[in-house]
Amino acid sequence: MTFSDLGLNEILLRALEREGYTTPTPVQSQAIPALLQGRDLLGVAQTGTGKTAAFALPILHRLLADKRRPAPNTARALILAPTRELAAQIADSFRSYGHFFRPSVGVIVGGVSHRPQNEMLARGLDVLVATPGRLLDHLGSGRLKLGTTEVLVLDEADHMLDLGFIVPIRQIVAKLPKQRQTLLFSATMPREISALADDMLRDPTKVSVTPAATTAERVAQHVYLVSGGAKRDLLVELLNDREISRAIVFTRTKRGADRVAQHLESAGVGADAIHGNKSQSQRLRALDGFRKGRTRVLVATDIAARGIDVDGVTHVVNFELPEVAEAYVHRIGRTARAGATGQAISLCDNGERPLLRAIEKLTRQTLEFTDRRAEGARQDDGDSARPAPKRPNSPAPHRNGAQHPRRDGQRPPAKRADGPANNGQKRRANGGARYKQASRPQV
Ligand code: AMP
Repeated sequence: MTFSDLGLNEILLRALEREGYTTPTPVQSQAIPALLQGRDLLGVAQTGTGKTAAFALPILHRLLADKRRPAPNTARALILAPTRELAAQIADSFRSYGHFFRPSVGVIVGGVSHRPQNEMLARGLDVLVATPGRLLDHLGSGRLKLGTTEVLVLDEADHMLDLGFIVPIRQIVAKLPKQRQTLLFSATMPREISALADDMLRDPTKVSVTPAATTAERVAQHVYLVSGGAKRDLLVELLNDREISRAIVFTRTKRGADRVAQHLESAGVGADAIHGNKSQSQRLRALDGFRKGRTRVLVATDIAARGIDVDGVTHVVNFELPEVAEAYVHRIGRTARAGATGQAISLCDNGERPLLRAIEKLTRQTLEFTDRRAEGARQDDGDSARPAPKRPNSPAPHRNGAQHPRRDGQRPPAKRADGPANNGQKRRANGGARYKQASRPQV
């Protein structure tokens, strides 16, 4: 199937050609025909599936078919996104796909001054991409009116739920006309999101491209069992592998992200941090450096990283495992985008073992691991906060002498061939002999 088979306007096809898209992704081929007919849509799809183009192209097609100028202080299409970064990326996608007819596309997010946003809204917009909080401010002050908005998209609805945006969303939706097209995308379908979908969507087409609990299949995953104090040195060691050309390292906290980025920098690994305490311009600078390859490693918290659309991320490293298992799926989805392969490495200390089990349960897989705890115990005796020494440009072999999976170019197997969990037996919580025995990598 090609994009022209989907019935998209010629002007959009030219832009897609310019982007280098040849074949629609599954979410695109399933969603676009229904959306062109004006149907509502419920999409279960995570970032990396091509969902942005799946909703942006039909909206642009509609704008091309009816080239009305938007009235001042209105927007013809409204896209709600959970984070500033995602909002900026969605707007960029609209601009790219709309390259040959230049629709007016605006972004409304918090953390920046109101004045330019007021001026932009005064002109009226074809496409407005917004985070809910700041949008409500503008609705309250009367600078934006949604009574004539034709299309509403809620992107990453489950993430909006996590961030407490459900009430603001309902307040915003109440301002839109009943006669409209509504699309809701979510990577998972918790009860609150199903309820929201039931209230908002009319006879929606349902598209599901990646079941919520299925980890991106192209991502090779590996776990290092390590003591907490030895994580930073292990991270430096892993990142010294030059095969890792672009990596996102996840931490649980903003301070943790700063500390890890500083540690990497002091160890000679070019890194920058991105999280909610950074100003908008700092975040954009960090993202830009990462996207353009000036910074090899981006250290991020979940909220800052979700939705980041950077191609060519070869590795995702979970410096700390996420508290919520679903976040693991989102994190590793940062790599292996648009058909590429990628690797996810998780550093797991003893306290995080329950989190690891929750991830394995959710993703219905048993992750291969290497046990580096004995080494960590030695380092814990010393000063784990000391700056990391510079190390040679290759990761150390596994403790049992086996090569690191990447060094011989093999991906770690997705499952342990003979691991205890594969026999349906429970692993020991104290990481005893079973772990040690199973830690011989089968690579
Ligand atoms: P998304 O899931 O919307 O964040 O898209 C993930 C990535 O896939 C983005 O970098 C898009 O530019 C890219 N992409 C989307 N659709 C296609 C396509 N049909 N062919 C190639 N790349 C695509």
